[in-house]
Amino acid sequence: MRALDATKLYFSRAAEQLGLPERLCRLLTDARREIQVQLPIEMDDGHLATFTGYRVQHNNARGPMKGGLRYHPEVDLDEVRSLAALMTWKTAVVNIPFGGAKGGIAVDVHQMSESELERLTRKFVAKLHEVIGPDTDIPAPDMGTDYRAMAWIMNEYGKFEGFNPACVTGKPVELHGAPGREEATGRGVGILCLKLLSRLGRNPHETRVAIQGFGNVGSHAARFLQLADCIVVAVSDLTGTYFNPKGLDIVELMQHANAHGGTLGDYRGAELLPADDLFGLDVDVLIPAALGGVITSENVHHLKAPIIVEAANSPIWPGADDILTQAGVTVLPDILANAGGVTVSYFEWVQNRQHYRWGLSRVRQELDRVLSGAFEEVWQMASERDISPRTAAYVLGIDRVRRAIELGGIR
Ligand code: NAD
Repeated sequence: MRALDATKLYFSRAAEQLGLPERLCRLLTDARREIQVQLPIEMDDGHLATFTGYRVQHNNARGPMKGGLRYHPEVDLDEVRSLAALMTWKTAVVNIPFGGAKGGIAVDVHQMSESELERLTRKFVAKLHEVIGPDTDIPAPDMGTDYRAMAWIMNEYGKFEGFNPACVTGKPVELHGAPGREEATGRGVGILCLKLLSRLGRNPHETRVAIQGFGNVGSHAARFLQLADCIVVAVSDLTGTYFNPKGLDIVELMQHANAHGGTLGDYRGAELLPADDLFGLDVDVLIPAALGGVITSENVHHLKAPIIVEAANSPIWPGADDILTQAGVTVLPDILANAGGVTVSYFEWVQNRQHYRWGLSRVRQELDRVLSGAFEEVWQMASERDISPRTAAYVLGIDRVRRAIELGGIR
């Protein structure tokens, strides 16, 4: 299964619900533009290395295209296409005035120095500046990138097109970024998880949570849920699963990761299990917050959690998704569950365009409002049509894009 096949399958289920004609399905699934660039840079030791970068601009019917920039060795065009389409449906589900795009560079950030990453990011912008921008396509962080890369993007873009901080989001707060953007995706996962628990009649203080991935999204989701009284019993990263049945100390884990280059290796405050054991733990909520395609028909039978919140993009392949649905597992889909990041990116873009700063409490309040509204709409759609939350979210998002095309015509 390829990432794009999964996204297309989920799309087609929703398209069937909506009775969309074939020609409209084609228009909605095909990307507007796909760009592949070679990125030659000089490495610190003086040799020349060439990387491949991608940007897929999927759909702009509802506004400028928006989507993260991923740095990971396995990035390829197929994955970026799939992630770009997810962004179109995601921005529509939370009803912010953006379309969808995604970018990526096939690179292992752990093998690169900061100055090499800076040269690579600047080269990418130098090649793309004519087709990105505040009214066309606005990058943001994703796996392997953070506020530093966004600052380089803003700076490099400005060299070609003039000062315009709204050309990228997820920037440092000191450099036209929004307070609360860094925590936003994980916080959003937490907000939506609590809404789901409440809807299912479960108490947070009796809820045991396991989270795969302890990067930006996983760590902030863990912290938010712990503050909300959930018991986070396990988190994992590339170095293993850290388990404590009584609940982990998330602040200590965050401090450890910060002091050890982002990883939990050598953390001694919990039992260490193999990374893959996380999925088989007896927990109430499982939150995949690392890679796509991690829950498959092969390993789905090991899962015990009755609730899965998809913090990562596409963590569950369709075969496994069907098995989980039949087993009565509630899955909160990625295009809703991790939409907190793009929502606060939208707030950042709004502030940049108005040259007016919001405080953290306003950002958090607005995030809560947008996500709570989207949750209610998805839940209602799922109940009315007797479909899964995933298909309901796709129906809601696709229908909004369809309506925009109907009202405004094809651009
Ligand atoms: P990150 O690079 O900050 O963290 C990724 C984490 O996953 C790291 O802790 C890494 O060690 C861990 N990991 C990688 N492979 C693993 C494995 N095989 N087993 C266990 N852990 C593993 O990335 P992030 O920004 O937190 O993004 C995580 C996911 O969330 C991605 O799917 C991304 O697309 C999605 N997402 C991120 C944002 C955002 O704002 N950053 C927004 C929406 C969706």
